[in-house]
Amino acid sequence: MYKVTLIPGDGIGPEVAAAAKKCIAATGVKIEWEEVIAGERALKESGEILPKKVLDSIKKNKVALKAPITTPIGEGFRSVNVALRQALDLYACVRPVKSYPGVKSPFKNIDLVVVRENSEDLYAGIEFEEGKPETKNLIKEIEKYSGKTIRKDSGISIKPISISASDRIIRFAFEYALKFNRKKVTAVHKANIMKFTDGIFLKTAREVAKEYADKVVFEEAIVDNMAMQLVQKPHNYDVLVLPNLYGDIISDLCAGLVGGLGVAPGANIGSDIAVFEAVHGSAPKYAGKNKVNPTAMILSAVLMLRYLKEGQAAENLENAVKKVLAEGKSVTYDLKTNRDDPTAVGTQEMADAIISKIK
Ligand code: NAD
Repeated sequence: MYKVTLIPGDGIGPEVAAAAKKCIAATGVKIEWEEVIAGERALKESGEILPKKVLDSIKKNKVALKAPITTPIGEGFRSVNVALRQALDLYACVRPVKSYPGVKSPFKNIDLVVVRENSEDLYAGIEFEEGKPETKNLIKEIEKYSGKTIRKDSGISIKPISISASDRIIRFAFEYALKFNRKKVTAVHKANIMKFTDGIFLKTAREVAKEYADKVVFEEAIVDNMAMQLVQKPHNYDVLVLPNLYGDIISDLCAGLVGGLGVAPGANIGSDIAVFEAVHGSAPKYAGKNKVNPTAMILSAVLMLRYLKEGQAAENLENAVKKVLAEGKSVTYDLKTNRDDPTAVGTQEMADAIISKIK
């Protein structure tokens, strides 16, 4: 019996979380769920968007399944997702990108993994608002040290990239490649322009790669070229490792290569804590309609089962998902050729179809 934190989330979160929970139960793996509330619902109930109880529960149980959370619009709200990753130091965001027959996509047989650094870069949240006295002072200081001119009406976002954080994410990517029998790691950067930040990332990647040279092939790619290569020759790639911002953009591009957000799972992993979640958001307009695709959340549960070393259960659940997708009958509207197809089923019905295929 495992004890796992469950964050049901906002919008469509509770529906996809319920679907994933029942699929896990059907694999036979016993989980005692500790449900905690974060996001919009937590804000209404307790005045806090990320209550301490949520962090305490994850720190205690070490593993969480998290449904999407709405970031309230308005001043002072940073994303709960970013805050959670920072508070728990979940430094690696892992997004497997896999083609499943039955899911509409321009490509077949894609199987790559995006490993995104989660703790620094332009996501560090160090920003200075245009017009504020401290921003004006900062601009003066930067001009003094750099000898360059910055427009007075600028806002400033800081991009820190360290040797230590680059080292641990690149090492993570290589270790992941070894563990899951992958052949190549590609480090993605823009070091030709950002020499002192992406430059560190690239130099560190080259150093770490030497330690794995006899087992894993190492390659480098500039991020803009990578974007083009991925839409032209996605089969050339295996594991990609990227700083935070490029990782964010490229992982959505990759989700698009295999059929979009409805089928894209993810994991945020730290040294001894892991939070599993779909790539998609809380899609508020579909909340409570039993309409959206539960696949991304169920595939996130597959990643969680693998992390818990329940390999057979993970395999059985993934195979069941594959069968339902390939048949294309009991699937949600977004997986039908015509989105108005009256034979589309609801979120829970698709989960039930998956359960019926579990061996
Ligand atoms: P979104 O992913 O919620 O929705 C965009 C569109 O994608 C939806 O309108 C829908 O058409 C489609 N879609 C998303 N998930 C789907 C599914 N499971 N099945 C079928 N179609 C699906 O993105 P958004 O509208 O930019 O964001 C809505 C809210 O979600 C925001 O508050 C945002 O901050 C939050 N968000 C949360 C997370 C997270 O919790 N990890 C991630 C992204 C966005």
